[in-house]
Amino acid sequence: METAPEISVVVPLYNEEKTAEELVASVKSTLEEIGGTWELVLVSDGSTDRTDALLQEASRLDTRVKLVVLSRNFGQQAALCAGMDYARGRSVITMDADLQHPPEVLKEMVRLWRGGYEVVFTVRKGAAGAGWLKRLTSNLFYRVLRRLSRIDVRAGAADFRLLDRAVVECLGGFHERHLFYRGLVNWVGFRQIPLEYAATPRFAGKSKYTYKKMLSLAEDALLSFSELPLKLAIVAGSLAMLLVLAYAVHITVLFALGEHVEPGWTSLMCVLLIFGSTILLSLGVIGLYIGRIYEEVKRRPRYIVRRDFGFERPPEVRD
Ligand code: UDP
Ligand code: MG
Repeated sequence: METAPEISVVVPLYNEEKTAEELVASVKSTLEEIGGTWELVLVSDGSTDRTDALLQEASRLDTRVKLVVLSRNFGQQAALCAGMDYARGRSVITMDADLQHPPEVLKEMVRLWRGGYEVVFTVRKGAAGAGWLKRLTSNLFYRVLRRLSRIDVRAGAADFRLLDRAVVECLGGFHERHLFYRGLVNWVGFRQIPLEYAATPRFAGKSKYTYKKMLSLAEDALLSFSELPLKLAIVAGSLAMLLVLAYAVHITVLFALGEHVEPGWTSLMCVLLIFGSTILLSLGVIGLYIGRIYEEVKRRPRYIVRRDFGFERPPEVRD
């Protein structure tokens, strides 16, 4: 039986035919410089271009390069989950395929891990290549998330980090279907250390994160780390209730003072609208969480593997 390598590098790829070869080459050469045993676990997240063929070839040429092909596009977080399940290393590094996460940084990560840290997470300096709108929305989002939840995910956080085997095992035991690693890793604790790096522009191809995908990641993050939206519904409801009460008092006072009070259509409508909108709002928020509960209860797998290449034996299916 093969012994566990010292380092596993996990990379999710979705239609990255333009960067795949360069990625494999540069990660390999960095790992050779670092020294020690390693494996490269590539996860093709339902790619429809030549990515799979290129990676398969890379895996054929070097037994340390392994490939997991998912049956369709499951999203980056699920692809990461697959990669971490397959990875056997005593430390597991996750990074993007587009070389926005420079392989150079791996050296410092591994040095810190060998020095005893169990989580080395990265903080991006600058935002190479990202447009202003993406920067703005991403900064805003992390600010809101920090406020609403008790986890401290810094702006510029990405899925570029090193985890010790102990942390990987711990995350592997989590049952939630919607994963948001940036939050989970922060949540689990252990000895963590931030590492600054300058992001480089995407090597080739376009961003695989459409706005739809970003929104869905934001939703995962908010709903899995905060109950505040649920409370917000209550707050909004109470506010509306207060408004209506104040209005009722106002009318009663006018009436008591002998003023003429029109049995008004407008006031009725106001009350109706206030109540209507609060109820809808609250139902919406509750609905979001119920939807989540439904998803979790179904316990469908987070990803499905179509084929894998280069592994001695696939990991045990985790729930
Ligand atoms: N990715 C993935 N599945 C997806 C979307 C993205 O595996 O559905 C991968 C992608 O190939 C890349 C990483 O996730 O390795 C980050 O994506 P990208 O660089 O496109 O995002 P950005 O840097 O623009 O936020
Ligand atoms: Mg990128």
